[in-house]
Amino acid sequence: RAKAQGRNSYKIFDAEMHTQAVNRLTLETDLRKALEREEFVVYYQPIVDIVGDRLIGFEALVRWQHPTRGFVSPAEFIPAAEENGSIVPLDSWMFEKACQQMAIWKSKYPSHFPLKISINLSAQDLRKASFIEDIDRIQSETGLEGSAIALEITESMLIENIKKTIDLLTQLKERKIQISIDDFGTGYSSLNYLHRFPADNLKIDYSFVSQMQQGNRNYQVVSTIIALSNHLGLDVVAEGIETPQQLQWLQQLGCEFGQGYLFSKPLSVKEIETLFLCEAPKKLCQPHGSNSP
Ligand code: C2E
Ligand code: MG
Ligand code: MG
Ligand code: MG
Repeated sequence: RAKAQGRNSYKIFDAEMHTQAVNRLTLETDLRKALEREEFVVYYQPIVDIVGDRLIGFEALVRWQHPTRGFVSPAEFIPAAEENGSIVPLDSWMFEKACQQMAIWKSKYPSHFPLKISINLSAQDLRKASFIEDIDRIQSETGLEGSAIALEITESMLIENIKKTIDLLTQLKERKIQISIDDFGTGYSSLNYLHRFPADNLKIDYSFVSQMQQGNRNYQVVSTIIALSNHLGLDVVAEGIETPQQLQWLQQLGCEFGQGYLFSKPLSVKEIETLFLCEAPKKLCQPHGSNSP
């Protein structure tokens, strides 16, 4: 594009790049301060058993309310946080916050339990020396049992340091904490090592699910991942279910669990509590399209 616009466009390009770099830098500086300024909030997206039609838990998703930029999407700031290392304290805070919240809900709304909380990790979390120690501390502080916790990691995190990763995941399994492979299908997963990791389930990336059409490429990918999961003895969670048609296909293909705007978008603590109070235990995630943003 720069060439087509002639000589001067190099200057424009420079200015654009400069603005981008400055933006990125201030974002990274702001990220460092955001934790202590309490600008992060945890949202909870219901995860549903799409066979038995009941709520099984939530995925904790971070939200950043920036003082001047307003809401900043995780898609924008997670990569920046990974770059400057602030992802490690952020994830640790998310883990603690979400576990505390689950413990509160468990005592306030026991009839809705057992429910599971899923928390996202980044590669750097696994490199932190106190990773297991921190989990043990938070678990003993909140009293949340391992079987109520799932940690989501991506395919690329698995292949980074295979031996060490297997060791860490094994320690998590000893605590009955579950392992989900997130965004499955988008990374460079090698099928011949997948079985070496003590994973419990695969999460099919929402880009495939939300763009499924009868017989199209995304449909084939989804169908293949479900078959692969069954073959490996893993559960499968479909992310990004938006329409009743997608839900029906997934059920037909033998997918057991799902998540998506058809059931609910990610909700605040208040909104989840409203659901707990209004709806019968287990049933609060019947598809209701009106919930879509
Ligand atoms: P993810 O872990 O794959 O989370 C699922 C994403 O899909 C969420 O985006 C969720 O809001 C979105 N989603 C759910 N249902 C639907 C649907 O029906 N349609 C569509 N189009 N999207 C749907 P979100 O909240 O923007 O998060 C983006 C990513 O940021 C997450 O993807 C995760 O990788 C990362 N992330 C979020 N919170 C954290 C965190 O606390 N720590 C770390 N390390 N990463 C996080
Ligand atoms: Mg996730
Ligand atoms: Mg995902
Ligand atoms: Mg992800």
